[in-house]
This record gives sequence, structure tokens and C-alpha cells, in this order.
Amino acid sequence: GEFTDDDESVSLRPVIEDCLVLVDHVLTKGQINVTCDLQDAPPVRVIPGEMQQVVINLIVNAAQAMDNRGDLALKLRPEVRDGVDGAALSVCDSGPGVPEDKIGSVFDPFFTTKLGEGTGLGLSICQTIVQRSGGIISARNCPEGGAEFTVWLPAVDQPQ
Ligand code: ADP
Ligand code: MG
Repeated sequence: GEFTDDDESVSLRPVIEDCLVLVDHVLTKGQINVTCDLQDAPPVRVIPGEMQQVVINLIVNAAQAMDNRGDLALKLRPEVRDGVDGAALSVCDSGPGVPEDKIGSVFDPFFTTKLGEGTGLGLSICQTIVQRSGGIISARNCPEGGAEFTVWLPAVDQPQ
């Protein structure tokens, strides 16, 4: 089933949709306009509850960066990287972005700019979870402003 603790072949779309329900109170307490474009992507090997942690962390960070006002865009796409089939989820916000001199540090444990409020562990835990599934998490600033975090996971091996 979708909510066992085992990693298995998981379709990301329902996992992401469940996250949006779980963080609904975060998104509706401010004025966050959510755009969600979740296409069919190949199944990946993750623990659903852990993947939810990743997605929720990214959404909460985005909401905090925007001070609960702005645009949040989630996209799920099939994406081949280095010849490997996979699924890419991007979480994009309209906040101030990450200062360029800090963008290499955001995945470090205890790195936070939320003095007294942040633990700085969220993205570090996200990275651990994603890497354990053979994936990659990355951060960049969008040319049009805001930060974009992307999680790419390799597809479950399909019989040829
Ligand atoms: P915390 O949220 O407790 O600070 P995280 O590991 O989740 O820890 O994030 C680390 C830091 O990365 C944040 O303090 C912030 O400086 C930066 N960051 C994370 N997400 C965003 C975002 N969407 N926009 C701008 N900065 C971000
Ligand atoms: Mg955080």
C-alpha cells in the first residue's frame, strides 16, 4: 500500500497531493496562490512518508520565505538525466530567493537564516532522504525572482 514504511514503487503524484492537504492550513493562513501541475511521471523507489517530509519541508520553507504572501508553483515531470529515466518535482516560490553566497550552504545541517526560529535541519534531512533513493536535490534562484528547489529521483527499474 501507499503508506507502509517500506520503500517500494511509488507514484509521486498522490504523495504530493496528500502533502498539499497536510499543509493546507499553512497555505491558507496567508495569501499564497498555489499552482500545481503534476504530470504523469515514472514510479520511483521511496518511502512515501519520507517523501512527504521532503515535500512538506520545501513547501513550508517557501511559505516562510514569502512571508505567507505570494505564488507557489509545484511541477512534476518525467525527466531523463544522464540517460536515466526519472521523475522531477520542482517547488518554486516568489520570495526573495537565497543570497548567492549562501546557496551552496542551504543543505548543510544547522544552516539557517531564521535566527532563533529555524533549526537548519529541514533541507539537510531532505537531502539525506533524496540521496538514499539515488536522487538529487538542488537549489537555484529563478531569473524572474524567487527560489526553486528541485528533487529528481530515478525511476524504479522497469523490466526491459
Ligand atoms: P530552517 O527552515 O530551519 O531555517 P532549512 O534547512 O529548511 O532550515 O533551510 C535552511 C535555510 O535555507 C533557511 O534558513 C533559508 O535561509 C534557506 N531557504 C530554504 N528555503 C528557502 C526558500 N524557499 N527561499 C529562500 N531561502 C530558503
Ligand atoms: Mg525549513
